[in-house]
Formats: sequence, structure tokens, C-alpha cells
Amino acid sequence: MERTVVSETISHEGKKVKVQGWVHSRRDHGKLIFIDLRDRSGLLQVVFWGGGDAVLFAQADKLRSEFVVTITGTVQKRGENQVNAELPTGTVELAAETLEILNESEVPAFEIEKATEVGEDRRMEYRYLDMRSERMRNNLEKRHKIIKLIRDELDQKGFWEIETPYLTKGTPEGAREFIVPARLSPGKFYVLPQSPQQFKQLLMVGGVEKYFQIARCFRDEDTRGDRQAEFTQLDLEMSFVEREDVMAINEALLIKIVETLYPDKHIQKVPFPRMTYKEAMEQYGTDRPDIRENKEDPNLLAFMWVIDFPFFEKTDKEEHHGAEGEWTFTHNPFSAPIPEHTDKLMAKAGIGEILTTQYDVVLNGSEIGGGSIRNHKPEALRKVLEIIGHKPENIERDFGHMLKAFAYGAPPHGGIAWGLERLVMILQNEPSIRDVMAFPKTGDSRDLLMQAPNDVNPKTLKELGIKVEEQ
Ligand code: ASP
Repeated sequence: MERTVVSETISHEGKKVKVQGWVHSRRDHGKLIFIDLRDRSGLLQVVFWGGGDAVLFAQADKLRSEFVVTITGTVQKRGENQVNAELPTGTVELAAETLEILNESEVPAFEIEKATEVGEDRRMEYRYLDMRSERMRNNLEKRHKIIKLIRDELDQKGFWEIETPYLTKGTPEGAREFIVPARLSPGKFYVLPQSPQQFKQLLMVGGVEKYFQIARCFRDEDTRGDRQAEFTQLDLEMSFVEREDVMAINEALLIKIVETLYPDKHIQKVPFPRMTYKEAMEQYGTDRPDIRENKEDPNLLAFMWVIDFPFFEKTDKEEHHGAEGEWTFTHNPFSAPIPEHTDKLMAKAGIGEILTTQYDVVLNGSEIGGGSIRNHKPEALRKVLEIIGHKPENIERDFGHMLKAFAYGAPPHGGIAWGLERLVMILQNEPSIRDVMAFPKTGDSRDLLMQAPNDVNPKTLKELGIKVEEQ
């Protein structure tokens, strides 16, 4: 017999079906044993009757939480008083006829639907149990649906999804980077990308014109707020565009996601309101204002754009991004200034007043994405790097490949990246990005399930020429 998923049993009343899944809970009523059977689609009540098949009943008596089973039986209408309005299958139940235990389970580390009542560390250690909860299943499914919609929409608009390398070269771009020893080049290292920024620009030089990627990014950041060492971006880049074009595509995509996948939610204002950085700081004291008219409404989505950021700010010692100048960039060293300020950049005059083409998209007070039009002329990129204090030899070493590529007919281009988890988190009304990731890490970047990071065997270290000093 073919398997029926439990959510479909309601349309099989009076019929024989086979269901498979996990024992979600068990209630003993003397002559009756009730099981809530769970599969990916939901829950179904199964009844074993003591007055019937004695062998079957004895078998059912052995069932415990999270045992994996195959059950066949007849779907029957529940008595009026037995209807469970909270369950989508609450008008029916399965009268069991056969039971096969496919696998047993230890007593689970926590009750599946009460996972949030235990510490998060425990949920991470037993992520596969946590994931069986309706909440986590729903989060993972919605995340998948959002990504699928993004892929379909961008494909229709002529974008190509292209994967860019993870093992690459480091360039001071903002965050601290993870490094990977290169065994075949002793003493040398790869760097994991903070974002595909440089590759996507090189794809534009390569004539791709419209690129996107659901890209993993790596940032070795200190424990700071709701961040993860590896996270996912929707990364996108386009050629022959201006700021308005990139903003329009992204705005349309965000609206489409909400309208298609979140019909109960409403967007406060379309087109998304815009504010300059200056206005945002003056009116809200932050560059990601929460402009919701009703912060209590869980279905209200207040998107907005913040534009006209200063390009440069005075360096503080902590964040000089690898250069040693008096100035550093506020967002992205590859950005172009607004067209009216190109002359200032080229003359390195009035540096503090130069505005960048950067645009950030903000949702309910969280920055969910940001991007800019880039400097596609090598001279302009060089000026930025000089302003932020890179020495000429470092410019060659760290950015020479970009300057060289731009010398071969780089088209004007610009793009954006969204923090995908942040968006999904807000849409799912979850408190943390960890809740919309299958396998998140702790705040200090430990993977409690896999027990990483960990020691590696001395032979491996030797091959890499690495000696670990005792701390
Ligand atoms: N690469 C940038 C970031 O990760 C986004 C962009 O400018 O496209 O923040």
C-alpha cells in the first residue's frame, strides 16, 4: 500500500490507508490507546482498541515518544464530542489494524513541542529533535519557499544564478575573515569570503550583466548581537543600471514574497518610503528606523529605504579595515559616490561630505539588505583606496586584480545583498536568526551538535606545517 501523509487522511474517510511517522504522544485510556502520529505534514490521532486484536494492542502498548512506525488502518469520522478543532485532521482518526515499529527512540532530551522551554544550547545539541517541532518545520519550509520564489522571479527577469568560490583571497572589506591553510602551497592561506562582492563585480566585467546567488558568507566576528559566523545572503548584481533600477527590482521582489507567501501580512506603505541618512539620524537617531505605525501588530511590515549615506567616516582604531588612514568607508569600498560627488572623490576634496550611492533596505527597524552602484573606473576605485589609507603596494597586493579587471572595459554596475535569515526571521515573527537556520551556531560560534570547532589530528597539522602554541 502506498503511504498517505497524515494531513491528507481527512479526504480518505472510510478508506484504508498506510501512514508512517513518529509517535508524537501517547495517551492510555485502559481499553484504548491513543497515539498522535506526526509526520512532516502534521498530526493524526490513531486509536488502538483493547477489545480487538490482542497482539496489536500489546504492540501498541510498547510505543513511546519518538518511536518511528508504520500503521495501517481505516480513517474514521470522530464522534462529535471528540472533534479537535485545533488539529487540521481533528475531525477524523485512524482505527489501527497493523503496526510495525521501524525504530525505537531514547527518551527525547525535551518534549518536541516544548523545545523552547529548555535552554537554547540543548535545542542546538539536539537540533534534529528541535527540528521535529511544528515551529521549526514551518520556519524551514517557509525559508525554502522564499528562496524558491526568489530563484523563480529572478530567473524570469533574466538573472543567472552563479556560484562563486569559497576558497579565495582575503581583502580588507569590513569584517575579520576565516582563513584556511593551503596544503599544496605551504605557509599560504585561502580566505573564506565575507561576501561574493568582488566575484560578482568580476562577473559584470565578464559580461554576465545579471547575476544572483543564494550565497553563504563567512565573517569571523566577535560575539555581537544576533549574528552568525556563516550566514546566507541573496546576493545580486546588475550591469548598465543606476541606483533606481536596483532598488526597483528589489522592492518588487520583496513585495512579491509578502503577497505570495504571507497573505495575512500587510505592507505599511508602497512604494517603500525613503529617507536620507541625515533625515533618519535627525528624526530617529538611527540609520534603521522602525517606522511601524503599530508596533503591536505582528502582521505589519514597514519597509523603507535609507539612502545618501556619507561615504567616509573618521577612523576609530578598532575599525580601520586593514588600512591606516584617517578615514574609512562606512559601507563598502567598492561603492561609487553619488554622481554629483564624483569630482570631489577624484580631487579627494571635502571627503567628509562625499555621499555614497549606498542604499539600505530596512524592515521594522532591522537592516535586511544593502548595496550600491560601484566604481567601475579603476581611477575612481584607486581614489577610494587611497583615501582610506591603503599604501600603494597594498593596493596592488590586495586590489590589483580588481583594478586590472576594470581596465578591460568594466561596464557600469551595481547590486545589493540581503541578509536572508534576517528577512525570514521577521516574516516568521521569530526572535532570532538562529530560529530560521537548520544548524545554527552559538553566539561564540560553536556548533554544539557537531562539536566544532575541535582539535585536528597532529598528522594533519604536520602536513600543513602548522604548530599550535599552548594558550
Ligand atoms: N557586499 C555587500 C555586503 O555584503 C552588499 C553589496 O553591496 O552588494 O554588505
